[in-house]
Amino acid sequence: MILPIVKYGNPILNRVANPVVSFDEELAELSKSMVETMYDASGVGLAAPQVGVLTRLMVVDSTGGEKNDSLIVLVNPKIITIEGDQFEEEGCLSIPSFSERVHRPKKVVVSARGIDNEELVIEGEDLLSRILIHEIDHLNGVLFIDHLSVIKRDIIKRKIRKKVRNGEW
Ligand SMILES: [Zn+2]
Repeated sequence: MILPIVKYGNPILNRVANPVVSFDEELAELSKSMVETMYDASGVGLAAPQVGVLTRLMVVDSTGGEKNDSLIVLVNPKIITIEGDQFEEEGCLSIPSFSERVHRPKKVVVSARGIDNEELVIEGEDLLSRILIHEIDHLNGVLFIDHLSVIKRDIIKRKIRKKVRNGEW
């Protein structure tokens, strides 16, 4: 089921999501719907708060669905190590039509559980590193614009307010 994506301005995007405790059918259904929603929106990652659910669940596919085996579903992810730096253009399905270059670690190692509570260790480099950290940020109520300078962030916020006023948000 394709779910509506919550946009910037909704306070749920600023809240810390709760750890998953039961790996039940409801969680499996939610992850399935999130995968569908991510692909439908041509995204490369989606975190549960973006569909209005305050749960530490996220889905990632750095190929946007081009490769069959590149989908990763992560439950209760934790960053184990980070290394290096990259500075690339980044956007967010919850902040559509805006993008900015953001500093992120070049490499990351993330530990998590899979949808059946199996242990996962994911190593990400470049784009995958950026996506993993961007989505984990969502679980902590942090958005990519929070990493920008105050000036750049305020410009985006002002443009969004204008869109809101014009009924375009
Ligand atoms: Zn995002």
